[in-house]
Amino acid sequence: MKCPFCMEEIQEGAVKCKHCGSMLTSIGAGSPMSSPAGSKPIYTDYSQVPWFRKRWFLVLSILLFIPVAAIISLTGDFYYVKKGQLKTYGKSTKWVLIIISIGILVRIFSALR
Ligand SMILES: [Zn+2]
Repeated sequence: MKCPFCMEEIQEGAVKCKHCGSMLTSIGAGSPMSSPAGSKPIYTDYSQVPWFRKRWFLVLSILLFIPVAAIISLTGDFYYVKKGQLKTYGKSTKWVLIIISIGILVRIFSALR
């Protein structure tokens, strides 16, 4: 058989390629974590899902970062450079950010119920 990563000839049933060092555990036989890098792991149970892919983490990160962005925009300006000149976003941009934040929070709370 051939290594799927480097196409070199390797022993039938080899676990690891002797040429490139890639793990050759067949897809589906191992745990979802052993699937080759780049392909999406398929989870059949919620307990297999890593903590950072769970909904509560997404909710937590949005809850943490949206208010931070809103507070920063309320206490000062966001700066950007245009044609070599330092500029700030106007009040309307702040309000857009705050309205989007509120919209996202409302969506999260309605999804949790
Ligand atoms: Zn290889």
